[in-house]
Parts: sequence; structure tokens; C-alpha cells
Amino acid sequence: MPLDTTSHALPVARTIKDLRAVVQAWRAAGETVALVPTMGALHSGHISLVDLGRAQADHVVVSIFVNPTQFAPGEDFEAYPRTEGEDAKQLLGKADLIFAPNAGEMYPDGFSTTINLTGVTAHLEGLSRPTHFAGVATVVCKLLLACMPDVALFGQKDYQQLLVIQTMVRDLNLPIKIVGAPIARAPDGLALSSRNIYLTKAERLTAPHIHRILTEAAQKAAQGENIEALCSHGVAELIGLGFEPDYLEIRDAVTLAPFESGIVDAPARALVAAQLGQPRLIDNIDVPST
Ligand code: AMP
Repeated sequence: MPLDTTSHALPVARTIKDLRAVVQAWRAAGETVALVPTMGALHSGHISLVDLGRAQADHVVVSIFVNPTQFAPGEDFEAYPRTEGEDAKQLLGKADLIFAPNAGEMYPDGFSTTINLTGVTAHLEGLSRPTHFAGVATVVCKLLLACMPDVALFGQKDYQQLLVIQTMVRDLNLPIKIVGAPIARAPDGLALSSRNIYLTKAERLTAPHIHRILTEAAQKAAQGENIEALCSHGVAELIGLGFEPDYLEIRDAVTLAPFESGIVDAPARALVAAQLGQPRLIDNIDVPST
């Protein structure tokens, strides 16, 4: 039996072989495929990617894999929420197939290959989490090659990750269109994240300030104010509210390099990472062009 259809109403492929059999049948019928890679614990941000995928292809595959190689020792790999049954319910009627391999399927004994990018990984998350993007690039490359979709969708929520994947796909000539989807937010502005469940009630009330502070910095940068002064002010405000900021930066939107001139003079992105209680929150927004 190629697919695990026992536990959920939505078919689940556990092996690359089974995933490929399903995708090849669709291809033989002349149908197109979208892939949405996730680590599960799905929320409406993930579902917005699935809906976008549905609009771009005949079939949508959602992969659910908590990828051990993108977590550093001491990060929350073991504690990361795993809710496959709930995830499958949310995907019913939206996706066609879940690909949920185990770690041994993705990283069999003797696995020896890592994809490392230079340039865009040299900043921000790449400094805070030095092994993270190698884990992400390697697993995403494997997922893309396993599924070979026409299009794969990623959230701008992980803005630097999106740049990493776009760069990898370009450099390796993978014939797959990469789509970056807008950030889904709660009504108070907090970017949806699987890790928001770790916030206490009080922290959840504080958390949206991260978006407000980022928005204010981006708007003032767009008006020509000095970037360093704006970012220092934002960091101080975050600390005052009880965050432990990792960075708050306004960077070139394509390379993530700092602006030498000290002011925004090219397309820019404001990005932040800060711990609030247990979870580390990340967010980013476009710096509007004036
Ligand atoms: P994750 O399961 O956290 O690895 O996320 C899987 C995909 O969903 C990634 O491409 C994320 O960027 C995207 N994603 C996560 N949260 C959001 C959000 N709030 N809005 C849009 N996309 C998101």
C-alpha cells in the first residue's frame, strides 16, 4: 500500500518513493503541483500558503517535517509542537497530500551532504544561529528534489530564509518557481507563529509591540531618518518592555547588507528578532519607498 490513509482522511506519504509515485501520476495526467514545506503545528499563516498554492497549481502537497538539522543544541527541537492529526484536519479540502517522513527517511545512515550558502547567510539569523541555514537549505533542497513541484511557497515571515531559498534555487538551476507569501498576522499585529503558544497570557499582550516598534522604525527610515539611531531607539524600547532583543536592523532588501550611508537609499527591509519569555520571536516588514 503506497500511502498511509489509515490515520487521517487526507492521504499521507511517509517515504520519498510514495510521494514520487503520487506526483508522477498527477504529472502523467498533465497536472501541475505546488509544494508547501512546513514543520507542522499549522496555523492560518501556513494555510494562506496552501491557498496560494491551490491558486497556482492543480495539486498541493504539504510537507510536515520537524527538521533536526536546522536546530542547534539547546534550541527547542524536542519541545517543538507536533500536532499531525490536527494539521491534517486543517488541510482537509485544501491540500491533496501530506508528505510526513521520519528523520531516517530524510537522513539515512551515512548521510554526508550539506548545502552551505555564502552572502545572504552572513547577516542577522546567520550570525545568531550559525548552523541554521545550512540545515534549512539542505532539507528544502531535498524536499524540492523529492517532490519536484512546479511551484513552492514560502512565507515572508522568515524573510532571510526566503532569500536563502531563492538564491539556492537560482544557483543550483532547480526548475521550480519560488513564491514568497505575505505575513499572516493576528488582528493586533503579531505575526502568526507555531511558537506563539509558548507565550504566557501577559507576554501575549506585550508581543504585538514588536510589530509596532518595527513599523515605527521603518516609517521613520523611509522619511530619511538615521538608521542607527532608529534601531538603537527600537532596541531600547523592546528592552523596556521586557524583550531580550537579538537584533533590530534596517537592511538592503535583497542582500541584507547594512546601508553604508546610514540612511535608506535602496529598497529596504526592517527585521527584528527578540526573545520574550520562552519563545524567540522574529518579524520583518517592508520599508515603504517614499
Ligand atoms: P514553519 O512551519 O514555521 O517552518 O513555516 C513553514 C512555512 O510557513 C515557512 O515558509 C514560513 O515562512 C511560513 N509561515 C510561518 N508563519 C507564517 C505567517 N505568519 N505568515 C505567512 N507565512 C508563514
